[in-house]
Amino acid sequence: MSRKILIVDDLATNRIILKVKLNAACHETLQAVDGSSALRLAREEQPKLILLDMVLPDISGIEVCRKLRADPATWHIPVVIITASTDRESRLRALEAGADEFLTKPLNEVILLARIRSLLRAHETESELRMRSETWGELDLAEGETVFSMPGHVGLIAAEPAVAMNWRNALAPHLKERISILSPTTALSDRPQGGVPDIYLVAANLGAQGSGLRLVADLRSRVQSRHAAIALVLPEAEPEAAAMALDVGANDLLTLPLDPQETALRVTLHVRRKRRADQLRRSVHKGLRMAITDPLTGLYNRRYAIAHMDRIANKARETGRRFAVMLLDLDRFKSVNDTYGHVAGDAVLETVASRLRDNLRPADLVARIGGEEFLVALPEATLGTARLAAERLCRVIGDHPIPLPEGRGAVTVTISVGLALGPDLAPETRDPAATARDTLARADAALMAAKTEGRNQVTISSAA
Ligand code: GH3
Ligand code: MG
Ligand code: MG
Repeated sequence: MSRKILIVDDLATNRIILKVKLNAACHETLQAVDGSSALRLAREEQPKLILLDMVLPDISGIEVCRKLRADPATWHIPVVIITASTDRESRLRALEAGADEFLTKPLNEVILLARIRSLLRAHETESELRMRSETWGELDLAEGETVFSMPGHVGLIAAEPAVAMNWRNALAPHLKERISILSPTTALSDRPQGGVPDIYLVAANLGAQGSGLRLVADLRSRVQSRHAAIALVLPEAEPEAAAMALDVGANDLLTLPLDPQETALRVTLHVRRKRRADQLRRSVHKGLRMAITDPLTGLYNRRYAIAHMDRIANKARETGRRFAVMLLDLDRFKSVNDTYGHVAGDAVLETVASRLRDNLRPADLVARIGGEEFLVALPEATLGTARLAAERLCRVIGDHPIPLPEGRGAVTVTISVGLALGPDLAPETRDPAATARDTLARADAALMAAKTEGRNQVTISSAA
């Protein structure tokens, strides 16, 4: 992504005025004189934002905006349409075409720069999420469709419930979204009744209940509402308050009296945007989860277990409390597969995994690190408690036959366990990663011994 802002205007003086303003605010700029060169530059240069004149010599700004939104290479770039016209129809058409904002000349510089900051902030968060979610694989498009077709939730916060009720009555015919009326206090509660809105419309003056600006900042900083869209509703165009609102985290500004159709368009746009970001966030989390878990058993995988072992060793060095590691391997598991088939073998592995998980403390780590091999790490252990835990695990696996799928009876499997206690060393002495590796190697040697000594038993590393 380029760091530049694309200015599209057929008049050189307009371009120069904008360029000077933007340069003074440390934004680099690119320029286009008509719609088709704007579209080409947008694709090639990937500007971080586009300031688009409404009237251009070839195609209209509205048409350019529509084309930008339809092209996968440019649909995510924020667009601000700028025009001398104050007429409502063109504003509505610009918003319908997917413009993020519509500003009227002469431009108020404070508002323009605050708008740009706010749009860039939102856009950067989104592109960061998109990048990470792409690292973890394709977006779940099927989920995308259902997510976008679900109606959103709008929260209205005004000084008087009667005012919010008027807003609701005006907006409802234009929105498929669910609309709730909230007080500032309920809006900030940890579990608001009816769920957290996708967008809040906050009156600038909340009367005795305080200033809307303050509430915007509060909502933006709360865990449950920080990803929601927020629009501040101002009694009149007040550039200073408006710029401040954008800087404390409002995504949009509305002026009274609310134009129901325009407000509805803006709300819909914000809800879609928020849904898309939510979806990206979920996909990032899902990717992260998938990268560290084993799909068959849901346990952590080898990669996670090895990294976590380092953390446990590091913690042990800090606290001076020792940790223990077990390697557990199913005995003669190949014969289970040979006798009952691989599907039955998989079912046995799942049951073993859940029995291990259910018989350990929440702070203990259980991971599947190989086909039929598991790792258990116990922070803050003694040899005595670790041995008891290992023997307990041997029994919960070996003492109870495991049911096979499709009513094919049950099979008894046993495990061998190699146990090693981490070293008892002064904090400064060892590198935690090396400590973890050595302890794991000793547990592995102990497991080999358990196997050669007859299986279904716990062997403790002698070096512990
Ligand atoms: P030992 O007591 O010496 O550990 O004998 P073993 O048969 O368990 O050990 P070996 O390493 O020879 O074989 C491991 C077997 O585990 C091979 C394979 O059939 C089985 N196995 C490994 N991963 C999976 C899996 O994901 N699903 C199933 N069903 N079986 C697996
Ligand atoms: Mg085995
Ligand atoms: Mg094995």
